[in-house]
Amino acid sequence: MSRPRLRNAALASSFARLLGCATLALVALTATPSSGRPPAVARFDALPRASERLAQPIWLPQCGMQVVEWRATSALGAETKPSSEALAVLDDTCREAFARYGDFLRTKNLPRAHARPDVLPQISLLPGNTLLDGKSPRALNDLPTRFEAVAPGCCYWGLYVDSLNHLFLRNDPLVEGDSGKLVENPRFVRTLTHEIGHVLSARLGVWDVIGYDRQRDEDLAEEFVSFMGMHFPAESSAEDLAFHRARPGSRGAPTRTQEAHATPEGGRERPPASASANTSPQR
Ligand SMILES: [Zn+2]
Repeated sequence: MSRPRLRNAALASSFARLLGCATLALVALTATPSSGRPPAVARFDALPRASERLAQPIWLPQCGMQVVEWRATSALGAETKPSSEALAVLDDTCREAFARYGDFLRTKNLPRAHARPDVLPQISLLPGNTLLDGKSPRALNDLPTRFEAVAPGCCYWGLYVDSLNHLFLRNDPLVEGDSGKLVENPRFVRTLTHEIGHVLSARLGVWDVIGYDRQRDEDLAEEFVSFMGMHFPAESSAEDLAFHRARPGSRGAPTRTQEAHATPEGGRERPPASASANTSPQR
């Protein structure tokens, strides 16, 4: 989870950091969400139910992971449905991220316990846009029936739950390009790259060597996104909707070296996920 991007001065940033730490401590001590009531769901409710799993899991060779759940967003159609093009976005992102993670750790002078990652997570792709169906039952930001026990805050584009060894992602690897053709969605690539950072630091045993620190984990995931050449911030659901619904020729999709949004709406501090969840927050 990268912290929300506050636009004002360092004072606000420091306060937000303090608030985040305080809330995290509270969650760690009580294991209850910020509302104070105990979660109605258990950690394992986050995992896909038998009826939600794909009849045939989809193996991603470059990721070394399989997609076991994929729910499309009807309002966005082909952009969010399983397809060979969408799967290629996942696998290509994995190939590039996996190939460079060792170099990234070396630039940070960080050790690792394993030469290769141990057991990698399974993947769910779920509706994530909270202005469409991202909060609907069993979607990525459905707290009451799915994620409250592992990620009591809202709202996220990605969520890696280490204790479940499961990676939950937004469902839009593709977006309509200027020509009207479906193309790689750079915001999905950003989310997946951030989450791969979490997955690999955990599964290569970085934290086994140096000890786990949540903020360092989040900072490291964001630094990996930058290392991979993506310098645009995570977007809000409203911005995501505009990107998906913009008419061909009017969108301004970021490239990996281009700033996408110069004027964020301004973030707000949100309750952090539980100690075992690593997230990609929306703004
Ligand atoms: Zn994160």
